[in-house]
Amino acid sequence: MEIINGKTVASVLKGKMAEEVAIRKTNGLKVPHLSAILVGHNGASETYVANKIKACKEVGFFSSTFRYPDSITEEDLLNVINQINENDDIDGFIVQLPLPKLIAENKVINAIKPSKDVDGFHPENTGRMIKNLPCYIAATPYGILKLIEYYKIETKGKHCVVVGRSNIVGSPISILMSRDNYPGNCTVTLCHSKTQNLSEYTSKADILIVALGKPEFVNGDMVKEGAVVIDVGLTRIEDKTKKSGFVLKGDVMFDEVAPKCSFITPVPGGVGPMTIVALLENTLKAARREVYNS
Ligand code: NAP
Repeated sequence: MEIINGKTVASVLKGKMAEEVAIRKTNGLKVPHLSAILVGHNGASETYVANKIKACKEVGFFSSTFRYPDSITEEDLLNVINQINENDDIDGFIVQLPLPKLIAENKVINAIKPSKDVDGFHPENTGRMIKNLPCYIAATPYGILKLIEYYKIETKGKHCVVVGRSNIVGSPISILMSRDNYPGNCTVTLCHSKTQNLSEYTSKADILIVALGKPEFVNGDMVKEGAVVIDVGLTRIEDKTKKSGFVLKGDVMFDEVAPKCSFITPVPGGVGPMTIVALLENTLKAARREVYNS
């Protein structure tokens, strides 16, 4: 059994990106620039954006944050997005979610220019992903692909079972794992809350990707001997003995499941560290004009 070390992979990939940025600078090419739009004062969103900005610094990207109060109107926010769309200095940007209730998230996402949509949430990027065309893949599924690639895990012809069908994780990773590509070429089963006899499916998986947000939901009996288990779940559980006041739990009972696996991601330290790296990779692609040529 091998524990997939997301921290190590993230650090290796960031090192490679930093090297590329240094070469770009030497050759007089544009240094990638990622922007984040942050609305309101949601503590978790503030932390996520701060971590993204910190990661940009680590690899030598430029970054900028556009902050607005909760009271910003939808129209004003859409105007800001249009301005950033037209700002040639900014290669890619994200709108940190969630947004205040009065702002329609879909309208905002649809307003982002697809060539700058490094979160990969715009329907054009989702459509391109489904058609196996160049696109920005959303950060979490992209991070999972990078882990599978790094550990050279065989995927062709395998049965991949995904639990959870959210737009940001379960649904895109199910499509990606079924594409004619590496990683991919799996036979995929997508499970959700209406699936009956869930363990009948999970226990047949060669590759099990779990993203449902229910701590320690998957136990040893639900997993096949030799399976690859990717645990996306990340839930804060109160723990007064910890300085932070909480511990992070995945969707998999690690101690029970790990001995049966060929590979498994821990929580924390598995998929989590890859998410920001994936966003940086998309920003680098944007600066290279690799996905969209204009
Ligand atoms: P979500 O939008 O809440 O979706 C959860 C999915 O799980 C839904 O499709 C739901 O089915 C399904 N589900 C719920 N209970 C189930 C059950 N008993 N059996 C089978 N399926 C069930 O969650 P998400 O945004 O994808 O996030 C999932 C987890 O991943 C969360 O813990 C989140 O914090 C974590 N996450 C981690 C990262 C990271 O970077 N590590 C990134 C994103 C998310 P229905 O569709 O039928 O309701």
